[in-house]
Amino acid sequence: MAAVELIDLKKSFGAVDVIKGVDLDIQQGEFIVFVGPSGCGKSTLLRLIAGLEEITSGTLKIADNVVNDVPPSKRGIAMVFQSYALYPHMSVFNNMAFGMKLARASSDEIQKRVSAAAEMLQLTPLLTRLPRQLSGGQRQRVAIGRAIVRDPQVFLFDEPLSNLDAALRVATRIEISKLNERMVDTTMIYVTHDQVEAMTLADRIVVLNAGLVEQVGTPMELYLHPDNLFVAQFIGSPA
Ligand code: ADP
Ligand code: MG
Repeated sequence: MAAVELIDLKKSFGAVDVIKGVDLDIQQGEFIVFVGPSGCGKSTLLRLIAGLEEITSGTLKIADNVVNDVPPSKRGIAMVFQSYALYPHMSVFNNMAFGMKLARASSDEIQKRVSAAAEMLQLTPLLTRLPRQLSGGQRQRVAIGRAIVRDPQVFLFDEPLSNLDAALRVATRIEISKLNERMVDTTMIYVTHDQVEAMTLADRIVVLNAGLVEQVGTPMELYLHPDNLFVAQFIGSPA
């Protein structure tokens, strides 16, 4: 059983076809990276999985259930975006607890889950701070923590490192990698246009080009046996 299954998935905005028929099986616990040039449809594909965009045609299954018409909050997913929209007037703790409070979780349960997520991301000493008292990297870790607290089956990341400077990008990438090792059953789908991120994080890479899948494979498979020039240029040694 696939954790996430895309069957001939298509998305158009008006007359413009952006996702042109994507088939993909993602296994539970896999770390899948979508790569491809700017505008090829990576974010749109992720937003379709998240339920933030309506599917034009095709089928999307999560845990074997068709979720085409299931709202985002009922899909068992959590998403981390490029810009971490934290609530500026709330502490780190309250930012992370907010979703659980809305869901009327008990304060014991909230305490337990926020503490565990904070521990995982080395945020424990920062729980009482406000977002403006944090560095960019720490803020992005809070955004990731907020998603972990929701205990998703599927974790979606849309270029989570692209607003960070080079050193923080590496450090945060390592955090995400550790997180993946600890959340063994959680399926991760990660969008980037950065080859290094794709090569270092992915179990399998999905190379997208103009709304279609060019090739799917492990980093090594794509690196050693690219199906075509596009994949070779995208995954091959840096120019
Ligand atoms: P990527 O994330 O790979 O850079 P996107 O998925 O953001 O690409 O966009 C793919 C294409 O779809 C682009 O041409 C973009 O302009 C178009 N697009 C994305 N969202 C919308 C929208 N809401 N309305 C119209 N066009 C859109
Ligand atoms: Mg994008």
